[in-house]
Amino acid sequence: MFTKGHTKKWSKKDNSPRNPGCFQAGKPSGRSRSQTSIQIPESASASTSYVRQTLKSSDCKMETTGNICTLRPLDNADLKREENKELHSGMRWIDSQLNISLINTNINKHQVDSPSCPKFIADYYEQKKWGTCWQFTLKCIACGFIGDRMKMYKEIANGKPGPNPGQPNVALASALQDCPIGNTTVQQLLAGIDTPPPCRSSMQRTSSKVAAEMVKLNKTDMAQKLELVKEVNRRRGVPENEINITVDARYNSNTIVSKKKPGQNATQVFALGIETITDRKFIVAAVVQNKMCWRGAWLRGKGFPIECPGHEECTANLYRAAALSEYRAGKRDGKPDRTPEMSGTVCDHRWRWTFS
Ligand SMILES: [Zn+2]
Ligand SMILES: [Zn+2]
Repeated sequence: MFTKGHTKKWSKKDNSPRNPGCFQAGKPSGRSRSQTSIQIPESASASTSYVRQTLKSSDCKMETTGNICTLRPLDNADLKREENKELHSGMRWIDSQLNISLINTNINKHQVDSPSCPKFIADYYEQKKWGTCWQFTLKCIACGFIGDRMKMYKEIANGKPGPNPGQPNVALASALQDCPIGNTTVQQLLAGIDTPPPCRSSMQRTSSKVAAEMVKLNKTDMAQKLELVKEVNRRRGVPENEINITVDARYNSNTIVSKKKPGQNATQVFALGIETITDRKFIVAAVVQNKMCWRGAWLRGKGFPIECPGHEECTANLYRAAALSEYRAGKRDGKPDRTPEMSGTVCDHRWRWTFS
């Protein structure tokens, strides 16, 4: 909860210094950084909750009439070493088997390359980030031996030029496809457990590739399942293309307030057509209703008379103020694969589609 002190605005008309306890001229600034003091300024008495921290460092050599606040490192700080330690500490996602192989390989190579060094005292020479994966290079502190850079993850050989994608990166992207969290939350999660998160652009790139593959895979799968259902119809001696389905939908909203019109504050709905001809209940169709279009929103913000859906490269297939409708989803508004035609309706989201 905000106190009065946090929300109070500082105006230029107010001539009194903002923080009189901190920046008084003429005071000696001989305190070292370790002796920091926390002062509660006079202006921040009972009515506010300001806590001002004054950091004064003895290594400030500047000629100045007043005091200045510095956040400089101590004179004897080894910045390079500190930075290295900082970079190489914390949690990492590494393949445990490859980790063993990294240690063994480096010990063997150390024996061959510097036989005079009695003991391999390992430290990280370099850690290279590859999405959520890592490539490690070890060194020997005693003799300065530097090993080869080794990948701490398995790759996916895609036969394309350039480095291969790491298996865990692709696996993560594909796992996120069926997960309510996205790339940004994964970054926060990883940062929360002291693991340097992958950058946003690389995660987005991987997600896009994985999503396209997932669509292809799903279409193939639905087509295969549809053939199984048709086979059952043929054996029963009924028209093979008439398939009873039920429709169930998932919204990007966690407040479903109505049974009749669920998820009206959602912007996306993903409906599945589930056949009821066999007892396997195969998913034979998928429909997406999407109101969101980044490009359309951006263009409208710039003053262009653009409406979604309809413009080029529009991601929406529903007007942004339109209501999501399972009725419409059931009527294959979103044109799922195989473009089934509805030939009759049964109540309560149960439909009969004709698949060609
Ligand atoms: Zn050594
Ligand atoms: Zn659009």
